[in-house]
Amino acid sequence: MSSELIDVSKRVSELRVVQSDWESLGVTGRVRWVRRYANWLLDNADLLTELLVAECGKPLVEAKVEVTVPIDIIKYYCRQAEKSLRTRHPAPPNLLNAVKRVDVVHRPYPVVAVITPWNFPLGLSLLDAIPALLAGAAVVVKPAPATPHTVVAAVEGWAEIGAPAVFTVIAGDDDAGRALVDEADYVQFTGSTATGRKIAQRCAERLIPCGLELGGKDPAIVLADADVELAAHGIAWGALINAGQMCTSVERVYVVDPIYDSFVETLAGHVRSLRRDLDVSSLVTAEQFEVVSRHLADATASGARVLAGGGTEPAERWVEPTVLVDVDHTMTCLREETFGPLIPVVRVGDESEAVRLANATTYGLSASVWSRDIRHAERVAAQLDVGAVNINDVHANLFFFAAPMAGWKESGLGSRLGGADGIVKYCRPQTVTKPRAPLPLQRLLLWYPYTDFRTNLLGRTLRALAATGRRRFRS
Ligand code: NAD
Repeated sequence: MSSELIDVSKRVSELRVVQSDWESLGVTGRVRWVRRYANWLLDNADLLTELLVAECGKPLVEAKVEVTVPIDIIKYYCRQAEKSLRTRHPAPPNLLNAVKRVDVVHRPYPVVAVITPWNFPLGLSLLDAIPALLAGAAVVVKPAPATPHTVVAAVEGWAEIGAPAVFTVIAGDDDAGRALVDEADYVQFTGSTATGRKIAQRCAERLIPCGLELGGKDPAIVLADADVELAAHGIAWGALINAGQMCTSVERVYVVDPIYDSFVETLAGHVRSLRRDLDVSSLVTAEQFEVVSRHLADATASGARVLAGGGTEPAERWVEPTVLVDVDHTMTCLREETFGPLIPVVRVGDESEAVRLANATTYGLSASVWSRDIRHAERVAAQLDVGAVNINDVHANLFFFAAPMAGWKESGLGSRLGGADGIVKYCRPQTVTKPRAPLPLQRLLLWYPYTDFRTNLLGRTLRALAATGRRRFRS
């Protein structure tokens, strides 16, 4: 066994030792530490932003968003935590149970593993780690091997404020991720569908839960009554932010025939005006450059036309923001996740064809629908097999963190964010029953010895509870 893997096991054991004190601190105590941590993140936002730009090559504004939006989410969760984790006292389901008082307590999974990809290393790590910490779990984050530095620096901040040692980072490779899945009590994973499937299998073997946020192939549907200018600008940003390396990137555009020509002209003009590095950056890894170049080459070789962009520079991992037309579902750029700055646009006869093609994928992360008539767009949204639909906008659900983000089909399992659910998912319910009064009803009716009298009495009582009307009383 390599020393790195022994380290994973040792690190998780160390977390187990300190986790119970963290849980015992109570939600108020934990919120206090997390608020201090949010302030540390704010005070060190410039450093974290620089690190993100250095290791991901993001445009500055996108790096700033990735640092500051999670802090807003952390503050939101701090406000929610007390209420979300409050002990519940369900009302008795029948008269017999009225003699009991019941507490349903939220007890955390002791060690939560948060495994993240390279496209939003800091944002995705904090988004999942902080609700788990607030729930009372100890957390170990494993960032992608290509982009560990910002996460390492951010987790150091937890130690720097003197918080209990329940938050740590393991900056290892895929093997370290595998070792972590073998040790943790709950795995929250963001990454590719292929890896998510492997993690789900291992978690099933270990009988531990996992939350999976996986890949996507998000469609945009532009209806005949859309504001073409708005749709073209929104879709360009939705497809090209982070150079298209976003799970919810717009990866397919279906435009109905009457407005197709004006839409593609506006879109291509806008995309041609974007500036290298300032608006759209290079891809993060050479592997991703290979995938995007392959999709582009396959499309053009199969008859697609390039209306904007189309150029590549392998040494710089640069792919020009590219608008492709005359594309169809035989091409990889419409079937597989591209994760890059390609915008394939399909002309469709009507909206039912758009809906059919939008749903013709194994993914189901999110979608956008563009129309001046919100009711019209809502009717289309209701036909889409995805976890979120943004009307006249892109990525909007991600910023509305009181709502859940949940991938359907092969885009995920479970959900993240979503108010109380985002914290409570890291807990197991523990039910504690207590006698309300010293009335030994259980003993009288249920416990040994079984006698004819008890059998009779219990039978009549249970029948009276289960039935309604005349059936309560045996004739
Ligand atoms: P990836 O699946 O290759 O790797 C993600 C993480 O998993 C890395 O930290 C990696 O080291 C680790 N890992 C790899 N194999 C593992 C294993 N067997 N066990 C445990 N850990 C393992 O993904 P990537 O290429 O880094 O990221 C891109 C993917 O992430 C895209 O498919 C994208 O759509 C997806 N993504 C999804 C969301 C979402 O919220 N749905 C957000 C961002 C990215």
